[in-house]
Amino acid sequence: MELFIPDLKKAGGRFLEYHDEIEIKDPEIKGSQGKVPVLEVLLKAAYVNNRVLIRGSWQAELTGECSRCLEQTDYTLQESFNEEFIHQQAGENGKFPYTDTEKREQYLFKGELLRLDEYFKQAFFIAQPLKILCHEECKGLCPVCGRDRNKYSCSCADEKTDDRWSLLDKLRKENR
Ligand SMILES: [Zn+2]
Ligand SMILES: [Zn+2]
Repeated sequence: MELFIPDLKKAGGRFLEYHDEIEIKDPEIKGSQGKVPVLEVLLKAAYVNNRVLIRGSWQAELTGECSRCLEQTDYTLQESFNEEFIHQQAGENGKFPYTDTEKREQYLFKGELLRLDEYFKQAFFIAQPLKILCHEECKGLCPVCGRDRNKYSCSCADEKTDDRWSLLDKLRKENR
């Protein structure tokens, strides 16, 4: 995704709308239905005081393993952003005030194109969930017999509870 700065300058501070798709090529991350994951980006950008302001949101349809039942499950990752990129201007000596290797708090760029792929790819990787759930109430696998509790009901856990109750009953009786 690239923004052409002369277009933004022509707009004189007004926000222009952009829509683009960025492919994420990473063996660890899968798109839904076996596709290559795509970041769909919708943004508005304006050029004000040598800065490019961008706001909008992106989303991606992904698939991964539920961390409880291990089933493949589709999920949507979505995030909004509000960022500014400083357009570096060459000084009187023809040099730019900061080199690219100087990492500053702000995002810098120079020239007539603002390239945003790397910015969005980073945001995408940071936004990866620690846990994927097929649904909030996923019962997961039984730790005793390993069956998927969403599909089968086993009595492993129940038996344990029963044991505890009977032990408690026994203690109660003994204390009388
Ligand atoms: Zn699950
Ligand atoms: Zn079980």
